[in-house]
Amino acid sequence: MPIRKILITGDPVLHSRAREVDKIDETVRDIVADMYETMDAAPGVGLAAPQIGQGLRIFVFSWSDENETYRGVAINPTLAVSGIPAEEADEELDSEGCLSIPGERFPLNRYEKAVLTALDLDGQTFQIEATGWLARIFQHEYDHLDGTLYADRLEKPYIKQMKKAIKQMGWGQAGESWMPGEDDLEA
Ligand code: ZN
Repeated sequence: MPIRKILITGDPVLHSRAREVDKIDETVRDIVADMYETMDAAPGVGLAAPQIGQGLRIFVFSWSDENETYRGVAINPTLAVSGIPAEEADEELDSEGCLSIPGERFPLNRYEKAVLTALDLDGQTFQIEATGWLARIFQHEYDHLDGTLYADRLEKPYIKQMKKAIKQMGWGQAGESWMPGEDDLEA
């Protein structure tokens, strides 16, 4: 199972709505196995299929808090969010990154609670009620399936800083990618 190249912002796959998985077959299983491996190699706490060039509604996640480890795959997920933060995004606490915009981090407010409902690799429905950082991961990865990057959600002054960073890196067009373990980049 190989580690896959991670697409960088600008590639059309990252900015398009991914399609539902019709059937969880061998091809889908292979993609998911590669997604786990790529996420771990990056390393990252989540990875969506469009990030490796597959326009499918699949993401993987791997996150531990003090009590529990959450690691799994979400196929054809839905997400119910609630709890709008009252304060402005905190430079430190709310600083988010993305493997498709490697090396950059910017603060972004997310809903405080997210209930993920999805299929696992056996086609069984599962549900996870998430708060805090896990809720953020779910929102971030779910957005990827609708062609939305966290860069698209940034507010002033961060939106401008992000645009500048992307321009400076020469990103923003199709075909840019990086290889975890080979290229010296990280989220
Ligand atoms: Zn991302």
